[in-house]
Amino acid sequence: MNRPREEHIRHLQNILGPEGWLAADEDKAPYLQEWRDKFHGETPLVMRPASTAEVAQILAYCNDQRLAVVPQGGNTGLCGGAMPKNGELLLSLGRMKRIRDIDTDNFTITAEAGCILADIHRVAAERQRLFPLHIGAEGSCQIGGNLSTNAGGTAVLRYGNMRELTLGLEVVLANGEIWDGLRGLRKDNTGYDLKQLFIGAEGTLGIITAAVLKLFPLPRRRAVALAGLKTCEQAVELLSRSKERAGDRLTGFELMNRLSLELVGRHLPECAAPLPLSHPWYVLIELSDTDEAPLDEKLQHILERAWEADLIEDAHVASSLTQADRLWRMRHAISEAQKHEGGSIKHDISVPVSQVAAFIARADHAVAAMIPGFRSIAFGHVGDGNIHYNPLQPRNMAKAEFLARWAEVAETVHDIAASLGGSISAEHGLGQLKNRDLPRYKSAVEIAMMRKLKTALDPHGILNPGKVLP
Ligand code: FAD
Ligand code: ZN
Repeated sequence: MNRPREEHIRHLQNILGPEGWLAADEDKAPYLQEWRDKFHGETPLVMRPASTAEVAQILAYCNDQRLAVVPQGGNTGLCGGAMPKNGELLLSLGRMKRIRDIDTDNFTITAEAGCILADIHRVAAERQRLFPLHIGAEGSCQIGGNLSTNAGGTAVLRYGNMRELTLGLEVVLANGEIWDGLRGLRKDNTGYDLKQLFIGAEGTLGIITAAVLKLFPLPRRRAVALAGLKTCEQAVELLSRSKERAGDRLTGFELMNRLSLELVGRHLPECAAPLPLSHPWYVLIELSDTDEAPLDEKLQHILERAWEADLIEDAHVASSLTQADRLWRMRHAISEAQKHEGGSIKHDISVPVSQVAAFIARADHAVAAMIPGFRSIAFGHVGDGNIHYNPLQPRNMAKAEFLARWAEVAETVHDIAASLGGSISAEHGLGQLKNRDLPRYKSAVEIAMMRKLKTALDPHGILNPGKVLP
């Protein structure tokens, strides 16, 4: 790979036009640091193309000149995937934010990669449609980033993750060719499902420039409750029962341990839980429906039955939409609240739903043996078997000393997830954070297939080098 020289930069600036690039340090800075401040990047040029044709011209040139390119969306990814770590060119999709089409009868929206997720929600809702992907970063993450990480979030248990929410893609290949796969079809059996290659590829196989996404009818009713439980096993049983009783109306089921909510109360009091935190575990349950009939009664009924069966100790049902939103704000505040309490070693694992309690118990036991006095934070999308397991530093330990144990703790936690049939990255991807661990958890056959695909689509390795593949 070549390092970009003066003449390369000038050529790219010409393609992009005066509005389409940033080269001054203060202008580049926001693109080169990320949310957790774990990764920093460097680049000679932030490229901000305005169209698919410009992206194609850039890639054709970079492929020809052997210049590496790192794509970036909203820069909210948590694995350093969008950071140029070795002075690569940075390709930001943020100016490509046109909604190309919304087809309410086909229940689809065609959006460019740089559209902010929350804007898609808003545009769809104006037409009585729902785009159901909900994640904490929705105010700034972009559709291209969501696709490239196969984002998950809080509604996967009902609507699926980005893979399931996508019907078609437009992609610029490494050599600058444009693949127009913007089909809005629910049925299309004409060979390999190529769009799925680019979804979750973290920018290593092509640049996504637009997508056809699925829409759903906008729910008219919502009921939300917070229930307190004694054990994590009970949460899994409550999940099964809620699914049996509410079927498709169960659209949220989030697990949180007490410490995660205590930290929200301590550091972000405006998002605190509306009741005293006297139980070891909490679940936030949401039902929603397109029908006008009230759902509160149904949720009450589920909770009463659970209480009679000794599954829950207590429950608070939101009595208004404001209260319901407040419960969700509390859930989404957990990541931020943790930051204020010191260092935490973050994991984004998944296991079969039936193994969630076993995973947390084993991980707590193993981490306590390594770092006595560590504080366990566990929360997440239990309906998908996806837990954010983030051991927090002991009170009497220096943050740096605790974080120095990251690799060792992560390996232990990941080994436990793997032994239960799980994954080391449920929704955030691999980026540069976990790619080197891949050979420990995937077979040589699987990694060799991934390498062959990479070589076929990006023979010179210009797209996001050093990410995903070990
Ligand atoms: P970026 O961070 O900019 O990029 C992510 C990856 O995609 C990088 O490898 C980048 O190179 C590549 N990429 C970006 N755009 C393109 C493109 N157009 N073509 C090809 N490659 C591209 N994630 C979840 O799944 N669920 C959650 O619940 C969740 N909650 C979060 C909460 C908070 C507070 C934060 C900060 C993050 C959270 N995330 C969550 C992680 C993050 O928001 C998602 O991974 C999101 O999908 C990333 O989108 P982005 O636009 O910010 O992508
Ligand atoms: Zn999550």
